[in-house]
Amino acid sequence: MFTKSIKAYKEAKEVIPGGVDSPVRAFGGVIGTPPFITQGRGSYLIDVDGNKYLDFVQSWGPLIFGHCDKDIEKVVIKTAKKGLSFGAPTELETALANEIVDMFDNIDKVRFVSSGTEAVMSAIRLARGVTGKNNIVKFEGCYHGHSDSLLVSAGSGMATFGTPSSPGVPADLIKHTLLCEYNNIKQLKNCFKESSDIACIIVEPIAGNMGLVPASEEFLKECRRLCDKNGALFIFDEVMSGFRASLKGASGIVKTTPDIVTFGKVIGAGMPVGAFASSKKIMNNLSPDGAIYQAGTLSGNPVAMAAGLKSLQKLKADKDIYNRLNKRAVRLTQGMKKAAAKFNIPLQVDTRGSMFGFFFCEDVPTNMKEVGKCDFDRFAKFHNEMLRRGFYFACSQYETGFICDTMTNKEIDSCIKASKEVFELISK
Ligand SMILES: *Cc1c(COP(=O)(O)O)cnc(C)c1O
Repeated sequence: MFTKSIKAYKEAKEVIPGGVDSPVRAFGGVIGTPPFITQGRGSYLIDVDGNKYLDFVQSWGPLIFGHCDKDIEKVVIKTAKKGLSFGAPTELETALANEIVDMFDNIDKVRFVSSGTEAVMSAIRLARGVTGKNNIVKFEGCYHGHSDSLLVSAGSGMATFGTPSSPGVPADLIKHTLLCEYNNIKQLKNCFKESSDIACIIVEPIAGNMGLVPASEEFLKECRRLCDKNGALFIFDEVMSGFRASLKGASGIVKTTPDIVTFGKVIGAGMPVGAFASSKKIMNNLSPDGAIYQAGTLSGNPVAMAAGLKSLQKLKADKDIYNRLNKRAVRLTQGMKKAAAKFNIPLQVDTRGSMFGFFFCEDVPTNMKEVGKCDFDRFAKFHNEMLRRGFYFACSQYETGFICDTMTNKEIDSCIKASKEVFELISK
């Protein structure tokens, strides 16, 4: 069933570290090796062995309209024919910026980059430059890309100062990153007690990188309050939740307003794009207007801008889309929960717009430590059995699932049916 993929993986490993260009793709936390993909079509992925999968990963979020959406495909081809990159301004950038600015009261200006990592890295530089402070507060389990100061894990003992979570990250850099438990107000307060040099708090307001774990309203409110009180800026990392959780992302759901927002994934519709955005007052500090340096050869790439622009226009034009996608997410997760319960498997599920999460554990996890208590063996078996039945779930319990607009109730019901079979198999 995976013969050609196994061969392709072996060949890839010869010339690419681990055979992949992003570690999660290597199936490290699950069983077997990754299928090598030849094409996507609507809700489906097709691999080199000709297997077809209902795709709940959707390139890890960007493809809210599914693979090969005709409208997006059309503008991408049309734009590409005029040239792939100019390194000079285009009206497409202004148009996409306007789409974003028009939607948010707290956003006047946007700067485009080429990835979520770059967006967050630049947003943090901006926060540090504007406040004149050095430290940042981040939460365990929130992922903000792979830039040095964000690769931190909890050190031994007390909270706050963490340790590098990767070799190659100097401890000297990490000493400016304070680490707290997600949804833990007490630890957060401690950070501000320990340091008067905090430039910003960065949070995934709906965390999607430890599975789907939303922040509580009180927690976000406390972040806001502490930032205001201490002259720090509040950053929402909406690279995943932006245009996914709702049209306005997490910002459209939670009651707290951030100072800076980062975007990625959906705003590129599958092309490499990131962005960070804020008020005029803050953004005017960026070069060339201000002194805070930030740049990119391919930033605001015309093909990527055209894809993102079409995607956002389509999302805005379709007033019911998030409601529709959420109904399907709820149908899927509730169906799976019910199926699991038949075989006494506790499954915790949640959704936000087109995002869904599920955990094999007794209680709803609210932070990374609790997610760590889930049954990872059971998840690995579930993942493998579902894959064999043609359902492509993210290959880690730490990831979020995505519904795309081409998915039908019939497809979702077929997934629930398959999950029932699998739950019986893995209940023993
Ligand atoms: C995916 C993601 C990033 C990193 O984006 P890349 O495009 O992979 O660099 C940053 N923050 C969050 C919340 C993400 O989900």
